[in-house]
Amino acid sequence: MIEFIREFVLKELDHDFGEVPLAALDDAAIVEGIAFTTDSYTVRPLFFPGGDIGSLAVAGTVNDLSVMGAKPLALSCAMIIQEGFPGEDLHKILRSMNGTSKKAGVRIVTGDTKVVEKGAADGLFINTSGIGKRSDYLDHNIKEVRGARKYPWNWPNDSAVGPGDVLIVSGSIGNHGVALLSFREGYGFETAIKSDAAPLNYMIEQALKVGGITAMKDPTRGGVANLLNEWADKSKVGIRIREEELPIDEAVISACEMLGIDPLEVGNEGKAVISVVPDMAETVLKAVKSCSEGKKAKIIGEATSDVKGVMMETHTGGKRIVEPPIGDPVPRIC
Ligand code: MG
Repeated sequence: MIEFIREFVLKELDHDFGEVPLAALDDAAIVEGIAFTTDSYTVRPLFFPGGDIGSLAVAGTVNDLSVMGAKPLALSCAMIIQEGFPGEDLHKILRSMNGTSKKAGVRIVTGDTKVVEKGAADGLFINTSGIGKRSDYLDHNIKEVRGARKYPWNWPNDSAVGPGDVLIVSGSIGNHGVALLSFREGYGFETAIKSDAAPLNYMIEQALKVGGITAMKDPTRGGVANLLNEWADKSKVGIRIREEELPIDEAVISACEMLGIDPLEVGNEGKAVISVVPDMAETVLKAVKSCSEGKKAKIIGEATSDVKGVMMETHTGGKRIVEPPIGDPVPRIC
């Protein structure tokens, strides 16, 4: 996907406008001090264990703003609805969007609806865009980073991970994708595994209050494997993680083994990976763990110039290269 965007889309568009421009392919752009992002949701089914397309569409956009160090302010909601779509389902989805927005302290302030003929939209698609302003705690955060090392950026971003930075994952991984796949295909794991879809802005605020964060990102499509490879590539740094430190629920491990998929490659919708200067890592971890969304947070490894790409020390003491996922192990989950 990233190659397609670089080779196909960026080529045709002016892509260098803003402090974090389109060309950065980050979670949000930064323009005139405003964080701005958009995402379209085509998840199947629309209702799943732990959430629905509405909660997902709000949480996803809130999280893309939050990981840039922005305080989410307002969202748009555009819906493409297939003719004959049940009104009761639409009510439920809108109520879910409103509830998740309230939880995140944002409001949906503009939107659009289009109705298309049967066969054109597969039920319902939702696009949400969002704007956010600089977090009140971001200046403090960056001051702490600059006390530890050289840091030329004004916002945490994918290019800003440096050797020595400690990597924290905010909770158990793989739940969203596995819950959806299992529910969709009727494998039965969904009784034990639910989607993690949740807005993370308050948890991230607590982490910024501590300070020392150099980059943050939500491991959505392509999971943690994709995220770490993006960081390694954009920040030109190696990344080493330890398999035994990865927080993965037992049920997710069994489901992944059975289905032959790698939990590192499965998408999440309520998790963040946080890169922190070493001296602040334990305090940031504590702050994250104090929030309900971050209870299972763990330090999973660090950035280093000793390795190339992303390397995992396995349970058995071996070393495994973590490649960026080629296909999508679980399609249509966001
Ligand atoms: Mg993102």
